Amino acid sequence: MLFSKTFIPILKNNPSEAVIKSHQLMLRVGMIKQSSAGIYSWLPLGFKVMKKIEQIVREEQNKIGAQEILMPTIQSSEIWKESGRYEDYGEEMLRIQDRQNREMLYGPTNEELITDIFRSSIKSYKSLPQLLYHIQWKFRDELRPRFGIMRCREFYMKDAYSFDLNDDDAKFSYNKFFLSYLRTFKRLDLSAIPMAADTGPIGGNLSHEFVILAETGESKIYTDKRIFEVSSENTKLDKKSLSNLREKYEKFYAVTDEKFDKKKFEENVPKEFRLNTKGIEVGHIFYFGDKYSKPMSASVDFQGKKEFVKMGSYGVGVSRLVGAIIEAKYDDKNEVMKWPISIAPYECSIIPLINKNDNSNLDKAHNIYNYLKGKNIDTIVDDTDENFSSKIKKFNLIGIPFQIMIGKKSEGDLFEFVEVGKEAKNLSIEDIAKIIINKKK
Ligand code: ATP
Ligand code: MG
Repeated sequence: MLFSKTFIPILKNNPSEAVIKSHQLMLRVGMIKQSSAGIYSWLPLGFKVMKKIEQIVREEQNKIGAQEILMPTIQSSEIWKESGRYEDYGEEMLRIQDRQNREMLYGPTNEELITDIFRSSIKSYKSLPQLLYHIQWKFRDELRPRFGIMRCREFYMKDAYSFDLNDDDAKFSYNKFFLSYLRTFKRLDLSAIPMAADTGPIGGNLSHEFVILAETGESKIYTDKRIFEVSSENTKLDKKSLSNLREKYEKFYAVTDEKFDKKKFEENVPKEFRLNTKGIEVGHIFYFGDKYSKPMSASVDFQGKKEFVKMGSYGVGVSRLVGAIIEAKYDDKNEVMKWPISIAPYECSIIPLINKNDNSNLDKAHNIYNYLKGKNIDTIVDDTDENFSSKIKKFNLIGIPFQIMIGKKSEGDLFEFVEVGKEAKNLSIEDIAKIIINKKK
């Protein structure tokens, strides 16, 4: 891709309306554009990153046996009246009337809709468990939308739902999602801690929030630092291994402010391991038994009886993750961003120094571009006539993890190659490709 032909509207300075670094950076490098309060368009750079995150989230859902569906954004109020949440949800729900004066709404979440889908088809316990998910836009009319796409009104979420015969099986499903979330966030190069949480308007009795540490986060967190050392590596997908995994985490105190109890914190966590800081919630899982299946009559036949199914729901803020990853990775002092290669908008940038009436560096850039393209490396060439140092500054902000500089320091067939944040090296294009391919594995 040639930079001159992309739609990447870069701003010269940090926009004054943004207070946190992810919001500043996303506007600065043209990843998003606000269209009205808390509602954003996703421009190519931002959209590419979000789609890559979405794909990782999807793969990890599929790995635990969840099946992907797609439910609509607009729902009928009928099912919400059945569950009793139509009134409870309050002003965060965007209510709409159609031309027949039917009460509709833009879905803030999908427990009701999925329960309706489930009950219309599944009749026997032999079809359980069912793990279903979709990745779809949600709307919540937040009182104070802020921080760009971190707390907005329209956002992109993966929400999954599990249906089981009894508590024990349902907890097995819950634990599968628990593991899949740990794996998802790890692939995004984030260290997300599962924290015991309140169940809030979703209701129920078991819940974890997955939180990453960030000064600008909205959740206050209290945790035992030793939780960072727990590993989920090589956990098998059977009941026992998964419940052991959850126990390993739950051994350590880790809660958000709603559940915070000073006495318990001090009793359970030795002073040197206490951590009281802020974080960003990137995922949230709930187990709520028959809270929806009972009022909505979602049951299966089991031993001659009708049993209300036991349900859980599992959300990941796919669009919020874009901002959360910036909060975790962006060095705002030096103005350098580095996306993990798995979700970078491009894998490599080529930055030629272009002198007037001399196209030789640009020609070299094109050749390198074609070579890397042949190796399946997604590359962008800065063919603009901006000066060399402002090009580098710009690419430092965009955060593409590898840069090839074709300037005074390149010699012959060796080019100045930088993995962002590390020392530059002069390497042949073959070696450069090898390093990038290796990193992608
Ligand atoms: P929060 O506590 O941040 O308001 P929530 O508990 O209401 O979130 P859930 O219903 O658990 O949110 O939604 C699942 C995920 O969706 C959250 O973990 C978060 O990552 C994301 N999310 C929720 N609300 C928003 C929002 N207004 N803007 C962007 N992402 C959001
Ligand atoms: Mg939540």
